[in-house]
Amino acid sequence: MRAIRVHELGGPEVLRYEEVPAPEPGPDQVRVRVEAIGLNFIETYQRTGLYKLPLPFIPGQEFAGTIEALGAQVQGWAVGDRVVTASGSGGYADLALAPASKLVRVPAEVDLKLAAAVLLQGLTAHYLTHSTYPLKAGETCIVTAAAGGVGLLLVQIARRLGARVIGLVSSEEKAALARDAGASEIVFYTRENFAQRARELTEGRGVDVVYDSVGKSTWEQTLDSLRPRGYAVFFGNASGPMPAIEPLALSTRGALFMTRPTLAYYIATEEELAWRAGDLLNWMAAGELRVRVDRELPLAEAAEAHRLLEGRKTTGKVLLIP
Ligand code: NDP
Repeated sequence: MRAIRVHELGGPEVLRYEEVPAPEPGPDQVRVRVEAIGLNFIETYQRTGLYKLPLPFIPGQEFAGTIEALGAQVQGWAVGDRVVTASGSGGYADLALAPASKLVRVPAEVDLKLAAAVLLQGLTAHYLTHSTYPLKAGETCIVTAAAGGVGLLLVQIARRLGARVIGLVSSEEKAALARDAGASEIVFYTRENFAQRARELTEGRGVDVVYDSVGKSTWEQTLDSLRPRGYAVFFGNASGPMPAIEPLALSTRGALFMTRPTLAYYIATEEELAWRAGDLLNWMAAGELRVRVDRELPLAEAAEAHRLLEGRKTTGKVLLIP
């Protein structure tokens, strides 16, 4: 089969398209014939070595397709079932493995590409707004990269919970998309101090929560934007990893809370995964959650996809097609 493999860490050029052996499913795994792969920022961290994986590796944890082989102990699934996962391995390939416990069934009326486009970023937007800091009607949140893959879903889900959303974006085009998703205020954080704007927009009080996926370039303004006992939810490092933060930096700004959540701990049980994925599929079926596919690229062009994502050139989801 064909796959993208990383033999050494580095820029997008280390993503090599090559012939590799098909993977064999372990006892609790299934092998999926991949129809669409969801590109996620985490794969850039793995490629550069910010997040460590043993070399060589095939990136990709989110993909949709049909089951083609079952591990010896797998129950409840059959060859030919249409599935999507956000917790697979070796996804940038024709064939990839996933734990049976991390599969989501794709209903016949949902396109497999759309399933791959929504799952990982949708689950993330769901846990951030429902579990990490459960948003309540009338509260105000800030969403960084509001026109990104996670961002556009996060804005919509925050709105459906009745919250007011201040969206941070870097361009007019992204501002229009974030507004369309439900952000009532936009701040161009590449040229404005968003903490100052957040104070102005909340009569000096500060916002209830900041969902910050940008990290290095935003963390300080994130802390400065919050109301007393507000929540700094740092869930990504698109601009680079954050420095260490002194606990006193939280107390002096008003007894703040800070957390660094990650998806795996919010879909740890099959019940939790089914709840979140079920909500996403239901909202999509009802036309209440829109998924924006920015573009599809052939798997062989994974390096170009990474360049676009890291270069802030994408809005919404990028899919790779084997
Ligand atoms: P996005 O589509 O959001 O793309 C990243 C965006 O970040 C860019 O478009 C850009 O938007 C913004 N950005 C700000 N500064 C930079 C910079 N210096 N370089 C590049 N981009 C920058 O990606 P994803 O939706 O895939 O992921 C969003 C974030 O969420 C990532 O940080 C990712 O790691 C994180 N994440 C975390 C999860 C978790 O469970 N913890 C799960 C899934 C994603 P703009 O130009 O508007 O600033």
